[in-house]
Amino acid sequence: MSPRRTPTVADCRRALWLLGAQPPLDHAGVLKAWRARVAQSHPDRHVGDERREQAAATLTRALNEARETLDWWIDEDLDWPAPGAGGVREVRFDEPEPWPEREPAEAVAPVCPLTGLRRGDQVRLRPYDGDLLVVEGTEVDQRDRSVWVRLVDHPAARADRVRLAAFSCPACGACAGPAVDEPTIRPCPDCLVDLRRLEQRPDEAARIRRAIEARARAGESMAESIGDGRLADRARERRRWARRLGPAGPEDLQAALLGAFSSAWERWGERPVREA
Ligand SMILES: [Zn+2]
Repeated sequence: MSPRRTPTVADCRRALWLLGAQPPLDHAGVLKAWRARVAQSHPDRHVGDERREQAAATLTRALNEARETLDWWIDEDLDWPAPGAGGVREVRFDEPEPWPEREPAEAVAPVCPLTGLRRGDQVRLRPYDGDLLVVEGTEVDQRDRSVWVRLVDHPAARADRVRLAAFSCPACGACAGPAVDEPTIRPCPDCLVDLRRLEQRPDEAARIRRAIEARARAGESMAESIGDGRLADRARERRRWARRLGPAGPEDLQAALLGAFSSAWERWGERPVREA
């Protein structure tokens, strides 16, 4: 059996993690790890408890997919991903708690306050027309205080050369290409900064509203230039929204802006990070 789509290095890492297996592996090793996991998680073990039965079935499916991924990896004779940061974590088989509670919780990665990026974000490097890359994390070089973005399967890049890609901001309508089936819907770094500022300085509301209207306008042209009608619609809607707020009094304006930022932030903040 082969996977439904070509697995990525991240899929391979996830599969190794799910099966609690350490590379290098052969088919027999994959089968052994898979059997051990399935024995612990089989839905039959939870008969009578619908919620657990369902969770166990989901997990069994994930384990089957992990096995397919690793078998494919071996057949293709690909290099195993290096362990380390973001790599294979040790999973012990003798953990006391029963399946399916051990289904890996997809953590919400923290947002870097310096860049507005977080692990899993899709980005492109200057001049912003190359392949999509995935953020692994950010760090500051203590020698010159420069900020660097670590990238999956790519050398780190200075933060000022990295820009969010394939996303659309639900607060201001800013967006970036390339056009993809499912762009990330997330507040843009400018909105994250504006939210923080607005919380501290309510008198900045009018300036922030104007900035949002400008970003919405830029988002509209960007969406049109990459030919994505949905992103263009969102940007247009945000531009109209920002313009309607023009005559609002300071308190109403601050409340409206905070509301828009917060709902954008919450929706995004709660969403688990997609694996690269
Ligand atoms: Zn924004």
